[in-house]
Amino acid sequence: MELTAPYIEGKSTRFPQMNENKTPADAAAFVNYWADRGFTSFKAYMGIDKPTLKASIDAAHKRNLKITGHLDNVTYQEAALLGMDNLEHGFMASTDFAIGKKENEPPGPGSAYKALSNLDILSDSVKQFIQFLIDKKMSITSSLAVFEGATTTQPQPNQEALNAMSPDTRDFYLQRLAATKSAKSPTIYDKAYANATKMEKIFYDMGGLLSVGTDPTGNGGTIAGYGNWRAIELLVEADGFTPLEAIKIATLNGSIALGFDKIIGTIETGKTADLLIIDGDPSKNISEIRKVQYVFKSGVGYNSKKLFDAVKGKVGFN
Ligand SMILES: [Zn+2]
Repeated sequence: MELTAPYIEGKSTRFPQMNENKTPADAAAFVNYWADRGFTSFKAYMGIDKPTLKASIDAAHKRNLKITGHLDNVTYQEAALLGMDNLEHGFMASTDFAIGKKENEPPGPGSAYKALSNLDILSDSVKQFIQFLIDKKMSITSSLAVFEGATTTQPQPNQEALNAMSPDTRDFYLQRLAATKSAKSPTIYDKAYANATKMEKIFYDMGGLLSVGTDPTGNGGTIAGYGNWRAIELLVEADGFTPLEAIKIATLNGSIALGFDKIIGTIETGKTADLLIIDGDPSKNISEIRKVQYVFKSGVGYNSKKLFDAVKGKVGFN
């Protein structure tokens, strides 16, 4: 298991759980503290500014560790210039196009989504923006499952995912889902989401390294396992990848982004035997990735149905 340190936040945070790094030196010390304890992965967060991000990147790189970010005050292009390795959340966290955004400050409320919704994604400026990220070897993680949860156009929730939730968690999620879906569509957010999905495909087609992940926030509907499947389905449904491309993004590309492609990511002699057995053909129909029978971790097999059954009605219970 690779451990991710707590978020590297900047001077001030909107979340009381997060440590505030008041200076670049604080951020470097924060990275070293967690790296000393065996944490191998770092994620910079929204309130970080450029000097503090730079110090975090340098501290992580000094120990040969990678650093990703869910940014807001710092734009994607600025982060690429500073040498950050990866960006979280596809293009949904990009503030590069927000009108009136000041350096090292958050964009105005709603202005980043508004800019994304209005973006001409086939324009030269967007192409140059994406090419710049690729030139700087910035990889990007798609996390559409969590963003889909704020669109008015999302499908009905997956019944098995609902069954996995504890009653309180399910009620909370369904209430929020109903409120989201009652908005008059298409919303600005719907349009921003649609453009962001197309940009992920353009980034990949131009040679960018795209990986995929989930996120436990949003409306509470993106839960472990089911959320991962949904994120991969959306690479096909929303981005327009073929099922095989989606599988590659979810396996090999992720291992390259983490720097682990020598040991995992493909089925090859000499690699770790982390495999899953599926009763179906996800290369034809991506949703068949849900038909997992067994998962092998380092050569040891686990019965997936038993594991899923064991947590039915318990996810989110506290
Ligand atoms: Zn995030």
